Amino acid sequence: MTDDYYRVALPDSELPTQWYNIIPDLPAPPPPPLHPGTLAPAGPDDLAPLFPMALIMQEVTGDSYVDVPGGVLDVLRLWRPSPLFRARRLEQALDTPAKIFYKYEGVSPAGSHKPNTAVPQAFYNHQEGVTRLTTETGAGQWGSALAFACAQYDMACEVWQVAASYRQKPYRKTMMEVWGAEVHSSPSEVTEYGRGLLAANPDHNGSLGIAISEAVAVAASDPGTRYALGSVLNHVLLHQTIIGEEALKQLAMVGETPDLLVGCTGGGSNFGGLSFPFLREKLAGRMNPVIRCVEPAACPSLTKGEYRYDFGDTGQMTPLLKMHTLGHSFIPDPIHAGGLRYHGMSPLVSHVYDLGLVEATAISQSECFAAALQFARTEGIVPAPEPTHAIAAAVREALACKESGEGKVILTALCGHGHLDLAAYEHYLSGKMVDLDLSDEALAAALADVPDLERTA
Ligand SMILES: *Cc1c(COP(=O)(O)O)cnc(C)c1O
Repeated sequence: MTDDYYRVALPDSELPTQWYNIIPDLPAPPPPPLHPGTLAPAGPDDLAPLFPMALIMQEVTGDSYVDVPGGVLDVLRLWRPSPLFRARRLEQALDTPAKIFYKYEGVSPAGSHKPNTAVPQAFYNHQEGVTRLTTETGAGQWGSALAFACAQYDMACEVWQVAASYRQKPYRKTMMEVWGAEVHSSPSEVTEYGRGLLAANPDHNGSLGIAISEAVAVAASDPGTRYALGSVLNHVLLHQTIIGEEALKQLAMVGETPDLLVGCTGGGSNFGGLSFPFLREKLAGRMNPVIRCVEPAACPSLTKGEYRYDFGDTGQMTPLLKMHTLGHSFIPDPIHAGGLRYHGMSPLVSHVYDLGLVEATAISQSECFAAALQFARTEGIVPAPEPTHAIAAAVREALACKESGEGKVILTALCGHGHLDLAAYEHYLSGKMVDLDLSDEALAAALADVPDLERTA
């Protein structure tokens, strides 16, 4: 293979047919979720009102690999394997000796990596006789992925979209409706919790934590309905490992080994999906990349949060998860990367970070959009606001390589396109974008609401 490739296409026959579970390969297992009432480890029965048994079993499996069902592969083949690109033109513009590769997930129907897990989640629910799924969505990416997936299996889909994003992103809502979903602005009049919040503040901006509470409440009250979560949980990261498994094969096709992986982290799923297969190789001594999470400076759960048991939602209805958290009552500033505005981090990503197996850094949005513009003008693709964080981190590293003369191989996930996020670009181009750093007071106030379990846990 010569050195002048731009796009590395994996043959269709090489589509991975197993997901990778990193837990058996870690030096210690992650701490279990706790029942919010008893504080005992939550068992399968505690989760059964919310999730189908097949997904609960994947959540706790000790197997290293899980077969992807044929009925899931048939749908994934609509866009997978996804391409790996080498960002040659960006490298030239940066005048760097580094090689920058990006795995592009914007080729999916919904335009992001989210359908990689939406499809199996809808599949397993459908197999167990569930007829309706509920969920929350922030930026609208997850809601549209689940709406698409439910349409594949003829299921109803009901989405609570964070009010601020519902108002700012009407086309995401339309996209969900095109695929047949019903969309509510959250807080909504549909749930008791939502009605209470609206009564106190009719113009409530909402948050992911609130929207989760609403979707969970509706699923828990109807036996034919289950809830689906687009990030954070083990089974979601499991499904996303197809990204990293493909990328491993694609880099091998061109004879490259990464020195650095960077990925944006909201709830940790695209990051875990890309990096865990590489972490497996690293733990086995077959390669030695540095693996780095990149989060927004306005919502820095890994770099400024605490590693504690906290609720996944604002209404305190979910099991307690041991994770890096800013506090379940934390409502981040309205930065454009809506998918990164979550108070917590996936327990698995939190655990590997706590073990020192991955690093983390936080970047402000104006640096991210500056890097995204440079990327779009060289590589052509307009990134979603979330992966602009990964691009900014890759650019930082490529510029450091220019100083040091090192030809590092950098790998990142361009986990979605930004075609429905042009308002964010307009904001940046018109010079109105400001950087919102988290104040110490806001952080201290939200952390004060985290349950004090460490003595009992
Ligand atoms: C949802 C989303 C994210 C954040 O979620 P993770 O679980 O951290 O991947 C990032 N980028 C895009 C494009 C998204 O849709």
